[in-house]
Amino acid sequence: MSIKNITVIGSGTMGNGIAHVFAQYGYDVVLNDIKQEFLDRGLKTISSNLDRQIKKGALNEEQKTKTLANITTSLVLTEAVKNADLVIEAATENKNIKLDIFRTIDANAPVNVILATNTSSISITEIAAVTKRPANVIGMHFMNPVPVMKLVEVIRGLATSNETYLAIKQLSEAVEKVPVEVNDFPGFVSNRILLPMLNEAMYCVMEGVATPESIDTVMKLGMNHPMGPLALADFIGLDVCLSIMNVLHEGLGDSKYRPCPLLKKMVAAGYLGKKSGKGFYDYAQNK
Ligand code: NAD
Repeated sequence: MSIKNITVIGSGTMGNGIAHVFAQYGYDVVLNDIKQEFLDRGLKTISSNLDRQIKKGALNEEQKTKTLANITTSLVLTEAVKNADLVIEAATENKNIKLDIFRTIDANAPVNVILATNTSSISITEIAAVTKRPANVIGMHFMNPVPVMKLVEVIRGLATSNETYLAIKQLSEAVEKVPVEVNDFPGFVSNRILLPMLNEAMYCVMEGVATPESIDTVMKLGMNHPMGPLALADFIGLDVCLSIMNVLHEGLGDSKYRPCPLLKKMVAAGYLGKKSGKGFYDYAQNK
């Protein structure tokens, strides 16, 4: 089935980025969310990110206008998926919200349509199991910011068919992303490897091995990482880091994935990183 109409569910950080990319490459996108103000904010972000591309010389005004014209919005999920050739869910990372969304889209989207999810940590197999089309359900894990980052982890649930996988691989390539095939295990590849590294950096702080600045400097200058692990953890959000470590710990049942007690303590105190003004670094002070 050729894919032309794409419905993106959730217009937050990832959803508006996904809508931006597909609209820029000429796909018709319906962007869905639960409140008009969220849709408006998503469209505003897309518009300013397109302006940034224009400033860099990667795009012109006419392409911006065309990209925005390819996006329509909808507050009604049952309507938003009616004419879709593909649905990509990028709603809040909460299992019950996602399972409800998949039940609804399964009941309303055409039967052969692929249902993809951008989840960072929820099992694709479990999401697929609430639908009547588990062979058509797949993970499409974009990286933030979507218009910039090349990688898409394409995650096969236990029942995902080869046809579904190949369609998503080709679609990712059509928008100049690099798809990487991954099987459905907790954290997939990206978060399974990244988060334990961030967690270990937190143990180094807790045990007094070095200061956050020193740890980040070691990883930046010694390993050529563009950002130190603690600055990155603050950027991702310490609550998000904790929830992914919990998924790894519970899902894989191995004590090597236990979340650092300092991370738990900081989240309990409301130190969530950049978004709360305080994490391993103090952002209020920097302002
Ligand atoms: P976000 O909070 O910025 O946006 C989520 C959006 O979903 C919100 O606008 C919210 O109103 C909307 N939403 C909630 N319930 C909905 C529903 N029932 N129907 C329609 N819309 C609904 O979150 P985000 O960072 O964009 O994350 C979205 C997904 O992408 C999550 O699954 C997350 O794990 C994943 N992800 C995030 C990142 C990242 O760096 N932020 C990276 C990769 C994957």
